[in-house]
Amino acid sequence: PANSEKLTQFLKYGVYHLESSNAVFIDPVRALNRSYSLFKVSPLRYYSRFFEHKPLGTTATGTCSNSRKRKRKEKRPPLALNERERAADHRHQEVRPFLLKAHESLLRTDELLSVLPNLRSGEAAPAGNDESELPQQSFIELGRLWQASMYEISLNFPHSREQTRDEGCQRLLPIFDNLVANDMDDDVEAEFLGSRYIIPRDSCFYMSDLKHIKNLVPGEDSCGFHLIVIDPPWENGSAQQKSRYPTLPNRYFLSIPIKQLAHEEGALVALWVTNREKLRTFVEKELFPSWGVRHVATFHWLKVKADGSLICDLDLFHHRPYESLLLGYCDGKIVDSEKLPKGRDIHDNQVMISVPGDYSRKPPIEDLVLELVPGLKPPRCIELFAREMRAGWLSWGNEPLYFQESRYFMS
Ligand code: SAM
Repeated sequence: PANSEKLTQFLKYGVYHLESSNAVFIDPVRALNRSYSLFKVSPLRYYSRFFEHKPLGTTATGTCSNSRKRKRKEKRPPLALNERERAADHRHQEVRPFLLKAHESLLRTDELLSVLPNLRSGEAAPAGNDESELPQQSFIELGRLWQASMYEISLNFPHSREQTRDEGCQRLLPIFDNLVANDMDDDVEAEFLGSRYIIPRDSCFYMSDLKHIKNLVPGEDSCGFHLIVIDPPWENGSAQQKSRYPTLPNRYFLSIPIKQLAHEEGALVALWVTNREKLRTFVEKELFPSWGVRHVATFHWLKVKADGSLICDLDLFHHRPYESLLLGYCDGKIVDSEKLPKGRDIHDNQVMISVPGDYSRKPPIEDLVLELVPGLKPPRCIELFAREMRAGWLSWGNEPLYFQESRYFMS
């Protein structure tokens, strides 16, 4: 049968609004592809762990593999909860109905379920070819070397109409502690130490350590940002995380100059948090107040497998199949904060559902939050602690080129 209009839109843009719930299903590959014209994000690379195998005894709320190993890992809440555990459980119980409703709505959407197993297919040869199996460049390590300021990236801009093909212009720029921009209307290829990177149109990155973040503060308030997305390297003791990227104690994040980064018309701040109660308390009581951010809503990212079931049981005490995104406003200098939407005007507890990609890689959120962003459209957007780039965005972190390497793309 012919695809419905909704499915056709999903296959084009990667966003599907689920019926009768505050939820959308997102295919990050399709959503990210809107940033590129000459290259495409490789679905095979994006969905490096596709959670494919069907678990035994799946229930409506999803169930993890019932192997003995998993059983041992499933820590149920102790019978007597301490105060923090009670608070965490309370928070979970409040969110649970929204997550269940969103998930049930996905399970009822047959046309969407039928295309989920194919999200990872449609692959041509990866653009990365031979180099793609080699270990990736560690920007974090290189950036710490005393020679860091001498490393340069070469951006290969295509030839203009006046130039012959061989004259395409190559621009060499310091790769660390420097704003590197592609102001063209197409993706450009870049080269660094023998690896290729794809830089989306109208985007820039600044690769540095947190101690240099002040360099991002714009000279004029009108050049600030309307949307600030932050996914900090929170400490959480996971061994897997330790091997992927360094983490920082909470107090380091207090110094992020959110107020100075915000546009004079104000900014929507979207902060990714884990389910650790101690962290949630820190954000509410210390971090948001010190940034001058007023919390207005919380959205959730529910993680599913390719068959639509949850990646693990919804009620596992120490491992939940969802993470949350705290949304707040940082008032600008010229905008009366009364004019911005209030908490009660915003649909709280919206849910985005997707099949997770690489470890800790978050789905793109702009479709969900765009209408909450103050100022004229298109908004000026920045992502802090980014590992990838987006058309129209500034990406900052100590490895914003990580997922831009050619191995993650196809031509
Ligand atoms: N949102 C990203 C994504 O979807 O792929 C994941 C971000 S990850 C949670 C946190 C990032 O912060 C990692 O890339 C890590 O290397 C970076 N980071 C850790 N310590 C940093 C520091 N001192 N300065 C800058 N970035 C740092």
